[in-house]
Amino acid sequence: MRCVWGRSKHAERVVPRIAVLGSTGSVGRMTLEVASSLGPEFEVVALAAGRRVHALAEQAAETGARSVAVRDEESAKTLAAAMPSGARPEILVGPEGLERIASRADVDIVVLAIVGGAGLPAALAAARAGKRLALANKESLVMAGDLVMAEAARHGAEVIPVDSEHSAIFQAMACGRRSEVKGVVLTASGGPFYRLAQREHGHVTAKQALDHPTWSMGPKITIDSATLMNKALEIIEAHHLFGLSADEIQVLIHPESTVHSLVEFVDGSVIAQLGRPDMRTPIQYALTYPERRPSPWERLDLASLGRLRFEKPDWEKFPALQLGYEVIRRGGTLGAALSGADEVAVGAFLENRIRFTDIVPLVKRVLEAHRWIAAPSLDEILAADAWAREEATKCLPLSSLSK
Ligand code: NDP
Ligand code: MG
Repeated sequence: MRCVWGRSKHAERVVPRIAVLGSTGSVGRMTLEVASSLGPEFEVVALAAGRRVHALAEQAAETGARSVAVRDEESAKTLAAAMPSGARPEILVGPEGLERIASRADVDIVVLAIVGGAGLPAALAAARAGKRLALANKESLVMAGDLVMAEAARHGAEVIPVDSEHSAIFQAMACGRRSEVKGVVLTASGGPFYRLAQREHGHVTAKQALDHPTWSMGPKITIDSATLMNKALEIIEAHHLFGLSADEIQVLIHPESTVHSLVEFVDGSVIAQLGRPDMRTPIQYALTYPERRPSPWERLDLASLGRLRFEKPDWEKFPALQLGYEVIRRGGTLGAALSGADEVAVGAFLENRIRFTDIVPLVKRVLEAHRWIAAPSLDEILAADAWAREEATKCLPLSSLSK
């Protein structure tokens, strides 16, 4: 049976129309690959990216996208000049451009693959327009999960996780009722430095940190994976997506990145989802759900893997993890402050302005100084994010690197 798209207003449509926001990035490019491999039944009608306009122009020409958004006016001019003759999509600019694409009447699925807090306006717009939101951008939930999920519920939007752990949980949750779930286990590869002695962490370079052992991803999430901040963000993401409390979310280190996450039910059954560490699988599932379609990608070969290991995380070596639980417990604007500070800290590390071991203390320092609001409006959330970025930037010269 074919799936029916866009809920009641599009009930008769069987060809879902997709907008890919962040199409020039790691998840965005894989989404276009998946859409193309699914064939003409899946149509890409809109794209958005930041500044890689030449790549975006090529994608727009290849997909025949009707609408394309970029970050700023300058990128829009370069894009217009770079478009091959004949291809004339509408060109939009900035957060308003993203919002317009996310709420277009001819879009059924919004794949949100923008990195960082820049994804939030589009997440809210897609939720308010009642779209299927195939969500890779975890920062929007970390910043404003209560709002995004409430708007989605109010407007009948489906939020389907793309992040591999959350896709695994989403799939495993289907094996029982929500009231029958005892808890979940989020798996973490541990990143490139999990086995490295803590005293060595201060000397690791951005190049080493960008070399993830199992996943190939964009720079921010790769650094977040090395500090385990990515897992902290994912703890918060799981809380919002599935309504789980801090006590219901456990983290285990699983270096093979094969078991993407697990759900434990009240009867003691544990349901896991396994697969190769390849984002194309959860991306495809978010597009075809509730169906499964054949895929051409390399398949999991358990015999050649031999064994799968699991262990409790080292909390002392990776203090970022604890921050995820703290944000769930306190809520309010703390997630926005965490997200904003982390973006600045990761950016500073990538520019060699601070050391790897400065990232988490810098974020913690910002959280300690944060004047927290318990039940914030969207404006207050955006203000907390802006404040945290400013505060983190101010702290940069004070970090241990400069001493
Ligand atoms: P990348 O850095 O590879 O790509 C980010 C994308 O966002 C690029 O297309 C970039 O455009 C675009 N972008 C950045 N800022 C803006 C802006 N202001 N306006 C419009 N577009 C913008 O990131 P990833 O693909 O790795 O990650 C994307 C999101 O998915 C992140 O939130 C990440 O945590 C999450 N995720 C990623 C996974 C992965 O395997 N990569 C796995 C699970 C989750 P441009 O480059 O043209 O400037
Ligand atoms: Mg993940």
